[in-house]
Amino acid sequence: TRDLTKEFRIGRKWYSSGQPLRAVDGVSLSLRKGEVLAIVGESGCGKTTLSRLMLGLQQPSAGEIFVGGEPLTNVDRKVFSRRVQPVFQDPYSSLNPRKTIGEIIRDPLQIHRIGTSAEQNAEVEAIMERVGLARRLIHSYPSQLSGGQRQRVAIARALVIKPEIIICDEPTSALDVSVQAQILNLLQSLREQMNLTYLFISHDLSVVEYMSDYVAVMYLGRIVEAGPAAEVLRAPRHPYTRALLSSILTADPGLGLPEVNLGRGFPDPLNPPNGCRFHPRCVDALDKCATVMPRRIVSGSELIECHLHDTAATD
Ligand code: SF4
Repeated sequence: TRDLTKEFRIGRKWYSSGQPLRAVDGVSLSLRKGEVLAIVGESGCGKTTLSRLMLGLQQPSAGEIFVGGEPLTNVDRKVFSRRVQPVFQDPYSSLNPRKTIGEIIRDPLQIHRIGTSAEQNAEVEAIMERVGLARRLIHSYPSQLSGGQRQRVAIARALVIKPEIIICDEPTSALDVSVQAQILNLLQSLREQMNLTYLFISHDLSVVEYMSDYVAVMYLGRIVEAGPAAEVLRAPRHPYTRALLSSILTADPGLGLPEVNLGRGFPDPLNPPNGCRFHPRCVDALDKCATVMPRRIVSGSELIECHLHDTAATD
């Protein structure tokens, strides 16, 4: 993505601040084939809007999305869905209850007119086997399956047309803990076998650590820190990442993070703070943080937006 931005109008007028709600604000991220990038942040940070933009379910207000070097902005939803497929949180509500498992998995092949009927049958059976679904389930309905089996159906449906990117939006959070591990292991092994590329949206940092090569931390629509997962999660540099990790991972003293609490609440996205948006909650804030927005500093695969890490700053 390049400078991806999504604004929403609230009601019939712009909000009283005169500004629209900017749910995604200038997000530039890149992902190579076979890699997994996780987006983390509190609810309301914009990660769900970002995933909807990446799926073509909403059009950006500005900026562009590229897949394989080609811009995919303002293209038809169907064109988008050929290349980017979702696996959503709740496999029950995302599967049509009136269709059989075979019909559900075959749907994308029919929508995109891929293969003959016999070839589609063969593809459906092959992908069911790959995701660990018994062939006898082909004539079953979603209501006859367990939560884990339904999520396997959702994964099979996403993979059957061989998209370039899979957007996994909290793919295990509606499942029992024991089933969660099976689905994560399945996603990992499919990734290795098929060289898949995932954009992973999750609030569960242990899941993120297990699944991801890279992590991007989102706060009020902006990516405030990004880099290799091991570095961002084990040695976070941005005060928000440190606060987020310490608020979630207090049970892991090995991280040596300070006791920072995010208790002062998430700000109103309709009236984001001036300067650095995190400054009202930041324990390290400098005077200028309340008025001057930090620059985006990019070095290799690492990104940070924080005055503390801006060595070129003059004051
Ligand atoms: Fe804290 Fe200032 Fe860095 Fe923002 S720019 S995270 S307020 S130190």
